[in-house]
Amino acid sequence: MTDNYSKETLLKTLKSQFGYDAFRGQQEVIINNVLERKDSLVIMPTGGGKSICFQLPSLFLKGVTLVISPLIALMKDQVDGLKSNGIAAAFLNSSQSSEEHNLILEKISKHELQLIYVAPESLAFLQPVMSEEYISLIAIDEAHCISSWGHDFRPAYQQLGFLKSSLPHTPIIALTATADKATRLDILKQLKIESAKTFISSFDRKNIQLDVRLANNRVEQIFQFLDNHEDESGIIYCLSRKTTEQIATKLKAKGISAMSYHAGLSFDERNRAQEDFIHDKIQVVCATIAFGMGIDKSNVRWIIHYNMPKNIEGYYQEIGRSGRDGLKAHALMFHSYADVIQLKKFASGSSNEAVQLAKLDRIKQFSEATSCRRRVLLGYFGEELKEDCGNCDVCKHPPIFFDGTIIAQKFLSAVTRLKESEPLGVVVDVLRGAQNANVLNNNYQVLKCYGIGKDISWVHWQQYAVQVLNQGYCEIAFHENNALRLTNMAKEVLFNGKKVLLTEAKDRTTASPKTPKPKQKTAKSTGLFERLKKVRYTIALEEGIPAYLVFNDATLKEIERVRPESDEEFLSISGVGQRKLEVYGDEFLEEVRSFVRSKPKKVKKTETHIETYNLYQQGLSIDEISIQRKLKPTTIYSHIAKLYSDGKKININDFVSNSEIEAVKRAKSELDKPNSLKPYFEYLNEEVDYFKIRLALSVIDKNS
Ligand code: ADP
Ligand code: ZN
Repeated sequence: MTDNYSKETLLKTLKSQFGYDAFRGQQEVIINNVLERKDSLVIMPTGGGKSICFQLPSLFLKGVTLVISPLIALMKDQVDGLKSNGIAAAFLNSSQSSEEHNLILEKISKHELQLIYVAPESLAFLQPVMSEEYISLIAIDEAHCISSWGHDFRPAYQQLGFLKSSLPHTPIIALTATADKATRLDILKQLKIESAKTFISSFDRKNIQLDVRLANNRVEQIFQFLDNHEDESGIIYCLSRKTTEQIATKLKAKGISAMSYHAGLSFDERNRAQEDFIHDKIQVVCATIAFGMGIDKSNVRWIIHYNMPKNIEGYYQEIGRSGRDGLKAHALMFHSYADVIQLKKFASGSSNEAVQLAKLDRIKQFSEATSCRRRVLLGYFGEELKEDCGNCDVCKHPPIFFDGTIIAQKFLSAVTRLKESEPLGVVVDVLRGAQNANVLNNNYQVLKCYGIGKDISWVHWQQYAVQVLNQGYCEIAFHENNALRLTNMAKEVLFNGKKVLLTEAKDRTTASPKTPKPKQKTAKSTGLFERLKKVRYTIALEEGIPAYLVFNDATLKEIERVRPESDEEFLSISGVGQRKLEVYGDEFLEEVRSFVRSKPKKVKKTETHIETYNLYQQGLSIDEISIQRKLKPTTIYSHIAKLYSDGKKININDFVSNSEIEAVKRAKSELDKPNSLKPYFEYLNEEVDYFKIRLALSVIDKNS
């Protein structure tokens, strides 16, 4: 059985259920493939919009869509997000009681659930409904977990091959953000979907600005960075637990709300950090890499790597956690010679040491790139950029090359005179004529090269030394105290005057020229965005869901720009669907209206609710008005509520009965000043429609 859905139908559902006006990238072709009941493998970067690829089709299918996902935290947020859009979804895990499980099974058997999220370990609970009568689509999220090639291997994923065997006609869609060719083939094979169509999206995340700097005075640099990201959520990744705690402490001392997160904390502590971050209660999390996989927060605005990550996959996945809403984000990575040594130590002795070291080399190359970084990055994933990105530090401040032959010669000869037995730091000390114990004890002050590099600062020497190293003139003996050794190429420089090009060293704190940047606020910051954020925060607190699930930053920005004052204008905003209009519309519209009222008047618009009033006075019913005005009945009802509040003559009991008004009144006195209609709706056992609650509230407000 193949169903064809027109583009128009799909777009309509995308708007009404998810609030979006257009498909992104390959979403539409993928959705069509799924609806044609074919298997799919979707490779899309984090934040690319994978979820819609199975969530939207699920709404067209009779049975439930089974979503297999590795992390319970992630499931809960996804399910909350779906529910906030009015979609029937649930998750199932081992912490729930058997009553809860039975309730879910019952809903599935009655075709009342559209999506069910479950971890592979808990699939057995679904045994009673594991048939094609009930399950019409299977989505396997984070599908790379199936492959031991991948970096998040989960043994329970390996049994998923049974799905195709037991439900051969049910389409499977496997999704992941990281999959090299080997992993890709492994996914197809293990899921037994070899003939699935593979959709590979571009990995380019243009909205993320890339910045790589030397690790000097990092804390100072971080403070400067945060000055430009006031109140914006971000994550600082560190290599060690201790560092995460130290940085969090320093940030807190500066009045920035921060917490650390690492495997040494208790489950509760970690959970709290994660929850507080998701709910915008803290601005910064200082974390080891353990943090983030379960985080689906769309308004993470920046990521800092305090230390160099161990490979490009990890780096890209971590920076990918920023800017999921498509708005500008900033990724800053620090790198240092010390990090490289540390990471080599971690890698050495491990079963795949060679692979790890090779990967480390690639991220090292990335961090030292002298051409567009995004090209290097995407090149790693086999993608070619047609032009430089213009949004990385190299593009913004191209390095200046100069003839550094003499500097290189001085450095290499010092390495020789130190008998190739000392690490980089000591070589620089000797060049700079340092008088520390190590130098004096070894009698290095008598060497011919002692002090010949005094004119160059320590920090600059270090940078030049790393460049000489990277150009292959010397290498590090990692197993022997990190001593520097010359390579054959060094002879060319020392004895034959081979020219060495170096890029100008940078000063401590800034990577960019020293023009102090004026504080960058959003292009046209009016203050409305901040006000909308407050409204969002209150609603989120009340509903116990993360703020970004109410509306993400991109949606709030658009509200700020468009300043909708009516339901239909509000509905035109990307991110606003039918359900969200009904549930949150009033609060946000009210904020916009009060904001606009407080500003000097612009050209007055025709007041839409007055038009409704004119038709109402002519005796038209709500449905008739709705048809005539081409507006949804809910919109017309909101006009009626407004007209009533404004004191216009409205026969309110035509729409809401006195007993319903009484019920809402009771709810109001029981509930603690709810900021949205949803708590009322739930308090009244979902029996009183939203529009009636709204009307009842106008009546109550007016009479109070
Ligand atoms: P992924 O799972 O690929 O990391 P998500 O499915 O979580 O990405 O989507 C990332 C963000 O993009 C979410 O905030 C989502 O609501 C938004 N998004 C997805 N599809 C669209 C679209 N067609 N238009 C606008 N925003 C979208
Ligand atoms: Zn670039």
